[in-house]
Amino acid sequence: MAPFRNRPATLGALSGGGRGTTLAGEIAVGRSQRVRIGRSRVNVYRAEYIWIDGTTPTQKLRSKTKIVPKGEEPPIWAFDGSSTQQATGDRSDCVLQPVFTVPDPIRGGDDKLVLCEVMLVSGEPHPSNTRRACTEMATRHAEFDSWFGIEQEYTFFKGARPLGFPDSGGFPAPQGGYYCGVGADEVFGREVVEAHLDACLRAGLRISGINAEVMPGQWEFQVGPLNAPAIGDQLWVARWLLYRVGEPFGVSATLYPKPVRGDWNGAGAHTNFSTKQMRQDYDAVMAAIEALKARHDLHIANYGFGIEERLTGLHETASYKEFTYGVSHRGASVRIPWQVAKDRRGYLEDRRPNANMDPYVVSRLIIESVCGAASGGRQADGREPALAGARG
Ligand code: ADP
Ligand code: MN
Ligand code: MN
Ligand code: MN
Repeated sequence: MAPFRNRPATLGALSGGGRGTTLAGEIAVGRSQRVRIGRSRVNVYRAEYIWIDGTTPTQKLRSKTKIVPKGEEPPIWAFDGSSTQQATGDRSDCVLQPVFTVPDPIRGGDDKLVLCEVMLVSGEPHPSNTRRACTEMATRHAEFDSWFGIEQEYTFFKGARPLGFPDSGGFPAPQGGYYCGVGADEVFGREVVEAHLDACLRAGLRISGINAEVMPGQWEFQVGPLNAPAIGDQLWVARWLLYRVGEPFGVSATLYPKPVRGDWNGAGAHTNFSTKQMRQDYDAVMAAIEALKARHDLHIANYGFGIEERLTGLHETASYKEFTYGVSHRGASVRIPWQVAKDRRGYLEDRRPNANMDPYVVSRLIIESVCGAASGGRQADGREPALAGARG
């Protein structure tokens, strides 16, 4: 493990996330600044512009820094789309439209993280921009007050092997003791996980928990519950922070759905969902499950590249070939948590989405299927899918 050091946080009270939390103390990040510069004040801040690129089959995060005068909002900016699979070299300019800004927990001070939508110079959303359609769908069905809580699983890699897998080749002890484990023989990368959690909280993101997963080096954090597109905004920023926090540790995180073949769990992004009606009435929970069942294949096709590798019917998954549901059932496509069955109201857990899914696509599709059916629309009958076929 690369050496790292705590550095005093320069953040005071945070305004992000609307929770009014004041966190003091230290953040464990790498010693990014090896040359000591004098501490004279500057009247600018650093805005890290983050966007989602055009890589297929799974889009990737990119970011770059803009210096902005203090007191000014981050303005519209541009980038070279020919280097991100978003444009050709002769018409390379793409536009960055800021949509979600939080305090930057890595740099601290007045610096910010600025999540952007990618736009064409014409002002239209870029074809790779999935947020815009998500926002439109959420707005159309706003009266349902849809909530999403996403469980983001991921796997740490050091070099070519998952963290905890012997460098010499071969495999660690079989699965069984790693999930929510403790101890150096079972837990790999906790210092990175803790630094990431710290960073997310300081950015004001609504993280609801973390846990070690079934395969060594595999972890999970949960975001939500939040409306769409906020759930997507916060998950994408939390993913960016995960990659960024891993840098000084020499550890990379991957969202690949089946990082190790064989008897090792894959990585998913269980998506917990409720509408106002579902939070009051069990019949609405069952109706939502029926609506998801009616469009199973469309959901599978949009739930992340490589989903057939992960949804095998083994390792706490249901086969991608069929739709099943059940109370407390971790081998089903959709699980009804026992508390929900007991209370006769609450939410459902869609266990199908891959770790590498796009939360804008998944939340859009769930709203379209469930709220579309509940409002008597034609969208839930499977005949008029608004999203055609698979995307990355
Ligand atoms: P699991 O038992 O599947 O591991 P987790 O505790 O990891 O579940 O995640 C549950 C998620 O469900 C959390 O992100 C939480 O915020 C979310 N959640 C709780 N209640 C609701 C609700 N009514 N609607 C949507 N999401 C919810
Ligand atoms: Mn979980
Ligand atoms: Mn999990
Ligand atoms: Mn789950």
